[in-house]
Amino acid sequence: MREQLTRETTANVYLVLFSLSVLLNIFLLCQHFSFHSPSRPSSTISELSWTRRAAAEAEAVAAISCSGHGRAYVDGVLDNWRPTCECNTCYIGSDCSVLLSNCSADVDSGDPLFLEPYWMQHAAKGAVVLSGWHRMSYSTTDHFKSLELENHIRLLHAAVGNAITDGKYLVFGTGSTQLINALVYALSPENTSSPASVVATVPYYPMYKEQTELFNGRDYEWEGATAKWRNSNKTNFIEFVTSPNNPDCLLCDSVLGGSSVIYDHAYYWPHFTAIPEPADGDVMIFTVSKLSGHAGSRFGWAFIKDENVYNKVSNYLQYNSMGASRDTQSRIFNYVKLILAEIGSNADIFEFGFNKLRKRWQRLQALVNSSSRFSLQQLSPQYCTYFKKIRDPSPAYAWLKCENEEDADCAEVLMKGGIISRGGTKFGSSTQYTRLSLLKTDDNFEMLLQKFKPLVASSDENTSEISSF
Ligand code: PMP
Repeated sequence: MREQLTRETTANVYLVLFSLSVLLNIFLLCQHFSFHSPSRPSSTISELSWTRRAAAEAEAVAAISCSGHGRAYVDGVLDNWRPTCECNTCYIGSDCSVLLSNCSADVDSGDPLFLEPYWMQHAAKGAVVLSGWHRMSYSTTDHFKSLELENHIRLLHAAVGNAITDGKYLVFGTGSTQLINALVYALSPENTSSPASVVATVPYYPMYKEQTELFNGRDYEWEGATAKWRNSNKTNFIEFVTSPNNPDCLLCDSVLGGSSVIYDHAYYWPHFTAIPEPADGDVMIFTVSKLSGHAGSRFGWAFIKDENVYNKVSNYLQYNSMGASRDTQSRIFNYVKLILAEIGSNADIFEFGFNKLRKRWQRLQALVNSSSRFSLQQLSPQYCTYFKKIRDPSPAYAWLKCENEEDADCAEVLMKGGIISRGGTKFGSSTQYTRLSLLKTDDNFEMLLQKFKPLVASSDENTSEISSF
């Protein structure tokens, strides 16, 4: 009896051991297939080797707290071998936590940092890793251009519906700034006794005048405002048309029929304007600075219909810089791909940018409208083919007018009130106007409102509405 019991116990022990062994094998097999299958992303993570140090460094620097009023960069100034915080305007201290008293609101430049929070929210998608041997050569897939970047830029325009790109050549520039003179050069007649006249409609983006005068070519010269030439029989113009315009953000078209037109569509994206129809100019400039906000990457592009003009621009770029940085092209390729993939999702950059700028515009507009001392450009809601609805304005800039005679220099009036703006004369306009950038950080914008309130309140006709800001 006892012997039978012992035999049964031994059999049970073997059964338990056998079952455990089967379970262990199943577990090990699962482990093997889940962590060693090459098709699973987790396998890639467990196999990372040479990117680990760079990834850890990038994350460690991104984690440095700058109190939400600054940020640290891997190439920032070191303190004790650690990059220091670079603070937003008006903030100081090692962690940017100290707000300076009596600091002016700086809304001068068009620095597109309003998109910085977008990239922070989508940090994983925006990260780009490049090897030490990444595109070391002068040449890339298509001479100086990344072919896949070109394809994706064309796909993006088609998806957004803001430009017709078929049948047009594409060139890349070190920012669209480089392309401004490249195009003026290429559109100018050669060996002629009458140089081309470069013109733009007031108020115009100052760079057209500044660059044309700086390079002072034999074949072209700056001839100022289009208004001067409307009724003249002079020909041979190169007309810049900025649409939406910088500084007043209105959609514009050429006013001197028959001239060569360079359409600058830096802001023809749904964050800044309704897109009523795709642009179809023979020469069209775009820039990543206002598309994704990566102004520091220095990347712009132009579509060109005419083959001769394209060849001349290509020559210019060859002799001027040998094409746009290949590192930049890789980084921008990642962003264009991502922006394209997120269209219509809750990570749509256009939706993000539109909402932010619309709110800024509404808050500023309510403040300005609460008195008669200042006025803003008139913008109305418009149907947008991208959002498929009538949408409110969301301009990049406020084009502010001082209405009172005694406020003859509007930028000066604002400066005395602690606001740094860009005066109207820079744009070929009068001192009655000044430009406020709505593109900068939240800190800049909040400071602008804070400084603007007393300027409005000091006018006679202020209303109780002001207290709500
Ligand atoms: N065109 C317009 C109308 C602009 O406002 C700007 C930038 N402020 C540019 C061109 C130049 O842009 P980037 O050189 O950064 O591409």
